[in-house]
Amino acid sequence: MEGPDTLDDYREKRDFARTPEPPGEPGAARGFPIFVIQKHAATSLHYDFRLEADGVLKSWAVPKGPSLDPKEKRLAVPTEDHPLGYADFEGVIPEGSYGAGTVLVWDRGIYRNLTQKDGQEVGVVEGLRRGHISVWIEGEKVRGGYVLTRFRTGKGEAWLLVKKDDAEADPGRDPVRTEPRSVVSGRTLEEIAAEESG
Ligand code: MN
Repeated sequence: MEGPDTLDDYREKRDFARTPEPPGEPGAARGFPIFVIQKHAATSLHYDFRLEADGVLKSWAVPKGPSLDPKEKRLAVPTEDHPLGYADFEGVIPEGSYGAGTVLVWDRGIYRNLTQKDGQEVGVVEGLRRGHISVWIEGEKVRGGYVLTRFRTGKGEAWLLVKKDDAEADPGRDPVRTEPRSVVSGRTLEEIAAEESG
């Protein structure tokens, strides 16, 4: 079991006097759980995939972003839990800070947990502990079933994010390539950097 506060790691990595990111305060659930995908131009560009569970955002860095093709397996590297308020964060993390670079809210919405084991519903936190969850996400760019599965690597653990083969699967569509703008502000990474660095 995890402790009552899983945001210690998030707080320890950041100096809130320097970064515009939200402080690590636990949030209250508001109806359906939320998901967010943030495009993050850090040392290397990646997409942070986050799912609300237990009052925080469980998080993975997905270098290539989500695919709509069920045949594509996308590497998802687990990162520290983030506060719920992070789902609204868009801006520039200053040079010298943890995760320095520009962040854009690439997609967001609600999700439903579909995880089962032997015909029984399994909670998201329990599923994550066991290394497998299945969710239905309802974003503006990306929708439908996705599966996250943990696997062991030489260096520890990593996960794969794979689109389920359902009515929302569409191998011919690649919003990571064709829809780069924020769903919140309509801006590109370059526009956010130009407006908020000055
Ligand atoms: Mn990131």
